[in-house]
Amino acid sequence: MEADMARWVDVTVPIRHGMVHFPGDPEVVIESTEETHSWGICRVSKLSLGVHTGTHVDAPSHFDVPGGGVEAIPLAGLIGVARVLALRGPRIDPSVLEPHDVQAGERVLFKTSNSDRCWSNDEFVPDYVYVTKEGGRYLADRRVRAVGIDYLSLGGPDDGPATHRHLLGAGVCILEGLDLRRVGPGTYDLLALPLLIPGADGAPARVLLSRLE
Ligand SMILES: [Zn+2]
Repeated sequence: MEADMARWVDVTVPIRHGMVHFPGDPEVVIESTEETHSWGICRVSKLSLGVHTGTHVDAPSHFDVPGGGVEAIPLAGLIGVARVLALRGPRIDPSVLEPHDVQAGERVLFKTSNSDRCWSNDEFVPDYVYVTKEGGRYLADRRVRAVGIDYLSLGGPDDGPATHRHLLGAGVCILEGLDLRRVGPGTYDLLALPLLIPGADGAPARVLLSRLE
């Protein structure tokens, strides 16, 4: 039987040679090799990239929080009902989150001006919308299951590590680099599958959303 793919929106950022990455992270390099055999051509590409490239998850070890690497991230946090919240920047702090009444166990994905502004730009956009450390603590205290954002880091230039530590320390799954341009606020089925790279502090993920009525 054919899967009903029409209901799924792919919110994954394509991995491309030379694509935008967080400052200081490795360049993304894709090299194709081509061998000609008597029976025809065989191609095997080589991919070199940081594990926090494009759409990806963060593991606790990213900021030296107990809990391990990517293999330890519970898939239950990344698969299931999620709420896309349209949030206004420039910073996401508790006052921005308060009206949305985030509940324990929820998966929340933040659609900000990043989606429209950043993904159409091949250069890194430094003034992206981010979650402050107070916002991170608020979400950790609320015991959300997963938090996602629509650019390369959930945290800001100054207090980014603290934001991550609050969330990772509370066992919250972090999804970064979502492209939410084609998705409005509402309730969705979330399917996020990070590559299984044991010990890695992050991993690229394919992420799909399907609107729930
Ligand atoms: Zn990351």
